[in-house]
Amino acid sequence: MAIRQIRLEGDEILNKKCRVVKEITPRLEELIEDMLETMHDADGVGLAAPQVGVLRRIAVVDVGEGPIILVNPEVIETSGEQRGQEGCLSVPGKVGIVTRPNHVKVKAFNEKMEEFEIEGEELLARALLHEIDHLDGHVYTEIVEGDLMEVTYEEQDENI
Ligand code: ZN
Repeated sequence: MAIRQIRLEGDEILNKKCRVVKEITPRLEELIEDMLETMHDADGVGLAAPQVGVLRRIAVVDVGEGPIILVNPEVIETSGEQRGQEGCLSVPGKVGIVTRPNHVKVKAFNEKMEEFEIEGEELLARALLHEIDHLDGHVYTEIVEGDLMEVTYEEQDENI
């Protein structure tokens, strides 16, 4: 396992659409392990493959309930609304207000290419939607309401 370098906003790889994963090769297995380690090392609650420079539809999320590996995730249902602060490991030291659905249902494959569904509310819903946006080349700063606010590292506790 290794910690990978996190690409920062302005890097054009963050604005590209990721390719669908057809099979988990040893290389992608290693990528997933590295993404988990990189996310935990950076105290993030989510990380998408393009954030470490790989244009594949893979993301990891951990909102404190254990790691979730998402391969080819797709949003299949959303409901409600939440308005709150959001941050991103690719936009360090900043947060902004983003409105998103409060509840989401996502279909994805795990690291063994077994299909599963996951439902999330509040932070988990926000993290899932934020990561899936990354796979389509979108960063939250595109949908932020108002200006980004500067925060210290300790205050930035919801880095996605
Ligand atoms: Zn992000």
